[in-house]
Amino acid sequence: MKLGMVKNKYKCIVCGRVFPEGQGIVIKYGNLILSFHSSRCAAKFLKRLLENTPYEDIGRYVKDVYEEFIEQLKKIEEIKSKKI
Ligand SMILES: [Zn+2]
Repeated sequence: MKLGMVKNKYKCIVCGRVFPEGQGIVIKYGNLILSFHSSRCAAKFLKRLLENTPYEDIGRYVKDVYEEFIEQLKKIEEIKSKKI
């Protein structure tokens, strides 16, 4: 990218705020670009997504990610307890 070139801009799909590339949260998902100016807007989207999608449809994927993070937490807590 050349200096002085106008950076890509994104528009928050939740509140409409425009923000430059490198800020906010931009997730390319299939042919969609999910752009959020803040984690608060991303959280709003996530909450709505989960509340509006039947558990039968995405439950197992949500559970997979949930367990992934729980496992990670357990590992971190194990390391911490060993240090003490
Ligand atoms: Zn926003």
